[in-house]
Amino acid sequence: MRNVEFGMRNRKKKRKADLLVTNGILLTLVPGALPVTNGAVAISERRIAALGKTPEIENLYEAPKTIDAHNCLIMPGLVNAHTHAAMTCYRGMADDLPLMEWLTQFVFPAEAKSDGDQVYWSTLLACAEMIRSGTTTFCDMYLFEDRVAEAAKKAKIRAVVGEVLYDFPSPHYGPIERGLEFTESLIKHWQKDPLITIAIEPHALYTCSPDLLKKCRSLADRYGTPLITHLSENQGEVEEVMKKYGRRPLDHLENIGLLSSPLIACHCVWLTEEEMDLLARRKVRVVHNPESNMKLASGVAPVPDLLARGVAVGLGTDGCASNNNLDLFQEMDSAAKLHKVHRLDPTVMPSQTVLEMATLGGARVLGMEKEIGSLEAGKKADVIVLELNRPHLQPVYNLVSQLVYSATGADVRDVIIDGKPVMENRRLLTLDEGQILEKMQEIKENILQRIQGKVS
Ligand SMILES: [Zn+2]
Repeated sequence: MRNVEFGMRNRKKKRKADLLVTNGILLTLVPGALPVTNGAVAISERRIAALGKTPEIENLYEAPKTIDAHNCLIMPGLVNAHTHAAMTCYRGMADDLPLMEWLTQFVFPAEAKSDGDQVYWSTLLACAEMIRSGTTTFCDMYLFEDRVAEAAKKAKIRAVVGEVLYDFPSPHYGPIERGLEFTESLIKHWQKDPLITIAIEPHALYTCSPDLLKKCRSLADRYGTPLITHLSENQGEVEEVMKKYGRRPLDHLENIGLLSSPLIACHCVWLTEEEMDLLARRKVRVVHNPESNMKLASGVAPVPDLLARGVAVGLGTDGCASNNNLDLFQEMDSAAKLHKVHRLDPTVMPSQTVLEMATLGGARVLGMEKEIGSLEAGKKADVIVLELNRPHLQPVYNLVSQLVYSATGADVRDVIIDGKPVMENRRLLTLDEGQILEKMQEIKENILQRIQGKVS
């Protein structure tokens, strides 16, 4: 009798959580922290309440739901720091072509007639692919970004989204003045949303005048939102900027005052030593997209040199037309190997560095490192569970090596975003995958007609 009473008192003392993830190897990715065997995470009100050994967590917390991660790894969700999610509809449409032919004969004609519905469904497809492969946050630049935000919200995935802005008229908003107004309206609409952040996204230096870039800077500063652009992706664009403005791209940005507060620069393939110094001094954050850079033969970004200068670097897939998938596990593998072969040095870009780029590094780039990127009490609960008991992942000597060189997105079993499960046992909980795949067939037929010139 006394024991029962004691047991009841003991149970009453437990704190309430919404969800427990137990019995897994816990890899928090807090710098310096070692993996914890038989680890667990308690999640409460969207955030991580506690982490530790499973018996400790189960003694302290009770929850209506528990995910058993036996034989699995519990780790932070990945951050895809640069993508064009809706370009999933162009996956494999035209590959292995010279850049200008690819753009002018396929991508531009197909995009000129794209609409909000195409963007919405193609983004849902991207969200399904990203969730399935362990991505819990993505940063997007494209057209019809109101529909991208809507799709991300439906999928319950965290997203930073921004309408692409450039000097010429957009198939979405028309003249650029409307683009800036539209961006501002997006900021106001999503201001208090827990999952969606709006960014200001001028396309690139060769497509945006100094005047437009300055307007973007002041809008970003006014609302304290991220300013994101493509920078020095290939040699041709660097030459174009030099011809137009008489300066290299980073000097041009410095000259027009764009580096006065944080800038997120995607690609940064072609940089001089002086530009890298300036970039580090001005705390520009960089997104590395190795597979896109390889596929479009853009070059190899000097990522080891940027990291040596203390620059925040995240990892991105870029759009599906130039990758052709959104699997960040594969991207990590490519990132590690590309720099080794390029420098003829196998010690360059070790797996720990690459894994950090895909998690906390990406969070730093997006200015979200206090909220996501590692598993720590108080941070938002973006957690993935990855199955380890598979032939290609055994035996395990070094977990981080295994994740970078052996794992693929398909090894991810469960995904929790903002404290809520969005995939359990590889079943998507927020999206109707059958409906999305069916819709993509229709979209593909429409696109085929456009690029064959059958639709005027
Ligand atoms: Zn891009």
